[in-house]
Amino acid sequence: MRGENVGRASATGPVVVLGFGAAAVSALCALREAGFAGPVTVVTDAGPEPYSPVLTSYYAGGRIGYGQCFPWKDLDFEALIDDLVTASPVEAVDAGAREVVLPDGRRIGYAKLLIATGAHPVAPGFPATAPYRPLVLRTMADADRLREALEGVQRKSVLVAGTSMVGLKVLEACLDRGGRATMLGRSAHILRSSAHPLVAERLERLLVERGVALRLSQAAVSAAAHDGTRGCTVRFDNGDAEAFDEVVLAQGARPNLAFVRDSAVEVREGVVVDRFMRTSAPDVFAAGDVAQALDLSSGRERVIGLWQNAVQQGRCAGAAIAAELAGRAPTRPYPGSIPSNTIHVQDILFSSAGALAEGEGTRIEASEAGGALTVRAYAYRRGKKQLVGFNVLAVATDGGLYGDAVDEIGAYRREILNAYL
Ligand SMILES: Cc1cc2nc3c(=O)[nH]c(=O)nc-3n(C[C@H](O)[C@H](O)[C@H](O)COP(=O)(O)OP(=O)(O)OC[C@H]3O[C@@H](n4cnc5c(N)ncnc54)[C@H](O)[C@@H]3O)c2cc1C
Repeated sequence: MRGENVGRASATGPVVVLGFGAAAVSALCALREAGFAGPVTVVTDAGPEPYSPVLTSYYAGGRIGYGQCFPWKDLDFEALIDDLVTASPVEAVDAGAREVVLPDGRRIGYAKLLIATGAHPVAPGFPATAPYRPLVLRTMADADRLREALEGVQRKSVLVAGTSMVGLKVLEACLDRGGRATMLGRSAHILRSSAHPLVAERLERLLVERGVALRLSQAAVSAAAHDGTRGCTVRFDNGDAEAFDEVVLAQGARPNLAFVRDSAVEVREGVVVDRFMRTSAPDVFAAGDVAQALDLSSGRERVIGLWQNAVQQGRCAGAAIAAELAGRAPTRPYPGSIPSNTIHVQDILFSSAGALAEGEGTRIEASEAGGALTVRAYAYRRGKKQLVGFNVLAVATDGGLYGDAVDEIGAYRREILNAYL
């Protein structure tokens, strides 16, 4: 993978990459593809093979095996990385000294640094004082715990707190294991940030038909552990109380940035970066779930938290680092992203992209064809009526297919990209 030697890390150290996920791997590939042949060090708090959080729910639910959660098996990591430091959560970044500090006190100097440490699950709203420790899902260790919890007795009752994409994936894992699932959310509908109410309502109905109980417009006020088991009794703000064998929190994620205490690196919602993923500190870059970037559909800088976004930002950072080390200005800026995702819950497919909020100048159109419900948002951009967001909800037929829905999703995605780029 290493090409001509157009760049070398300076005497001050190697290129150091913190984290070993989608953003880091994409950056490493782009760095070498751009011809950088100098030393590269990767520091990760996990093991020697990068895993994908996207696949963890399928493993927990039994759809795939442990080994299938590591999607980069064909990459030659020896050609990409000179020094891989594992099981070592970075302690601090010292931008002044151009060093990172490891838990054993070791300091590694860098010529360029990429922060790609992703995010961790948080539980806003879940009773913080609960003596009960709910499960979460992000890392392979989390996935192992969830798998073990779901594997046990059939018909386990599981509360999934959170109605986001991750919540739905956890819900699917419970259903796959024969569990009885309840979904809890503060909003009136599930998928508040990506689904139009019309689509959310239909999806809720489909979930109920598959045995899921919904507690919407509700919050947990306490969770008391049962003696001698992993179970707990949860009290809700409407006065109800219910016993569950397991509680899984899927209420969002926050960037892994505890080690960025150096004020030279500006942090708001995530690390603030420019269009080449450069932070405010010299020679420090950031990419993926740890960084905030332009969401083209809202015009806001924010952490996007999606796989494709992490891949693209990682590639942009890797290419920019290689260019700067070769004494050139980077040329391929990150254009911003349009949040877009497709998920399945058993036989149900839900896909969304762009902005769906009704408002001045936005027109919502809904239609049904071939068993799929589609909601499209149109707005006038550059003097033309353009598609700026969509939802597609479809249920697989007996043959496991979704009719025209998949082609439709591809076409809508291209149309939205044209509207924004
Ligand atoms: C259950 C689940 C399902 C998902 N499904 C989808 C989906 O269907 N579609 C989609 O687009 N997105 C999905 N996502 C989001 C997607 O996984 C992320 O957007 C993507 O993984 C971000 O890549 P990243 O490289 O920024 O972070 P990560 O993939 O999380 O990688 C971060 C890396 O940093 C390491 N690390 C963390 N802290 C430290 C530290 N202090 N020191 C050293 N290393 C550290 C971690 O071990 C990891 O190797 C899902 C997420 C979850 C949790």
